Amino acid sequence: SGKAYMFMMRTRQPSGIVPNRLYLVMDELADKFGNGTLRLTTRQAYQLHAVLKHDLKTVFSTVIKNMGSTLGACGDVNRNVMGPAAPYLNKPEYVHAQKLANDFADLLAPQSGAYYDVWLDGEKFVSVYKEDPKVTADRAFNGYGTNFENSPEPIYGAQFLPRKFKIAVTVPGDNSVDLFTNDLGVIVISDDKGEVKGYNLVVGGGMGRTHRDEDTFPRLADPLGYVDKDDIFHAVKAVVATQRDYGRRDNRKQARLKYLLSEWGVERFRSVVEQYMGKKFSEFVPMPTWEYKDYLGWGEQGNGKLFYGIYIQNGRIKGEQKKALRAVIEKFELPVTLTPHQNIILRDVDPANKDEIMAMLRAGGVQELVDWDSLDRMSMACPALPLCGLAVTEAERSLPDINKRIRAMLTKVGLPEDQFLHVRMTGCPNGCARPYMAELGFVGDGPNSYQIWLGGNSNQTRLAELYADRVKVKDLESFLEPIFAAWLAKRRPNEGFGDWTARTGFAAVKQLAATTAPT
Ligand code: SF4
Repeated sequence: SGKAYMFMMRTRQPSGIVPNRLYLVMDELADKFGNGTLRLTTRQAYQLHAVLKHDLKTVFSTVIKNMGSTLGACGDVNRNVMGPAAPYLNKPEYVHAQKLANDFADLLAPQSGAYYDVWLDGEKFVSVYKEDPKVTADRAFNGYGTNFENSPEPIYGAQFLPRKFKIAVTVPGDNSVDLFTNDLGVIVISDDKGEVKGYNLVVGGGMGRTHRDEDTFPRLADPLGYVDKDDIFHAVKAVVATQRDYGRRDNRKQARLKYLLSEWGVERFRSVVEQYMGKKFSEFVPMPTWEYKDYLGWGEQGNGKLFYGIYIQNGRIKGEQKKALRAVIEKFELPVTLTPHQNIILRDVDPANKDEIMAMLRAGGVQELVDWDSLDRMSMACPALPLCGLAVTEAERSLPDINKRIRAMLTKVGLPEDQFLHVRMTGCPNGCARPYMAELGFVGDGPNSYQIWLGGNSNQTRLAELYADRVKVKDLESFLEPIFAAWLAKRRPNEGFGDWTARTGFAAVKQLAATTAPT
């Protein structure tokens, strides 16, 4: 008796790396216990939607026994650690960044056995992710404020963190991970010979906010400083301990690290972290300009093998496409990587199999990059209705059509046919698809109604701002077309949409849009 409660299960997948066997298992679980689709997330993990309560244990234990984990995927702990998805095996900084993401996940994993007790009936289980002994040795938090040495949770203590905690690792210039939206961003710094020598750190980013609550806001991470290679775990623990001890616990809406940064400012935050660490940060090491990267299409791994990045619309693998992907991944025993833009990369492809793989994918209706509009490629939507309990309106199901309408508007006002902009849409202000970094962000604020956020840029280093409330989906043409027309008329050569709206200022954009003759 009782209701058939449905649950969502999310996996732990540092840098999005998925062994071949786990892909196949997830594919089967989606059919047997989920809704027949696989959903890739903006943090490089899987979500299995619509799992019934009485199936949860089977699903969790199957994942765990097949090289996966859900440990730390939800709750007030460190969430899935992001890393650059590119399988560049000949670029040591990429290899290092991916290993570091896994090390951080281990370092900050909840330690009590409760997790395995619940899902495996206490059966002893050895993770297939090999933990670096240095991580094990460094896990103790002695000296980082409260001493939890005798607690089953050496890092979190009895109370865990005030709120979830998000980390991303990357290499200079590669902003595929949306670095500045994380509580903590770590950038691998190498010397001229490619040897890793240390890390630049940024802190206090985050997307989530609440409608009609001015005290909640999206925020970009601030530069914290540079640490030498050997000090990185100490620095991470010191940041986590600072948030654990000073982050607000009386109000969940104010509990993310970004609010502490906002209240204290980065100087004060840095000095407290330095006290925990027992060391000072060095000056941020200069870095090249950040770039948006998505690794779609064919690429060289640097070890004689190829990778193939496949665009997955809004991260939803379903139908014939799901079958074709499975067939290829199974036949050629390919491991895969999930990307921060909800796409998938097939790894370790023998060049001799390239043509057959392409033929199998094509036959299964998996479209190639050239078949997609660049608007689709650059856009993201969260699951929203009907799958997410917080959604107030559609996202994943409505963005494809809205992108088509945006393309038609761009064409109508005379913008070039390859003109793109970064569009992101979420069904609520929580902002899972990071709409506050978009050039055109849609944030659900009612049935078929969205806030419009403008002014983010194409490499995700500038925050968008609220431009308008309660814009109805049916009114998008009358709302957006004049803005696009004004952009074309007033922009500098090739100036991007986000750069133009930010430079012009919203008051002037509104005036221009109001005076642009309807086309
Ligand atoms: Fe759900 Fe909101 Fe996240 Fe979308 S942004 S998945 S609606 S919580």
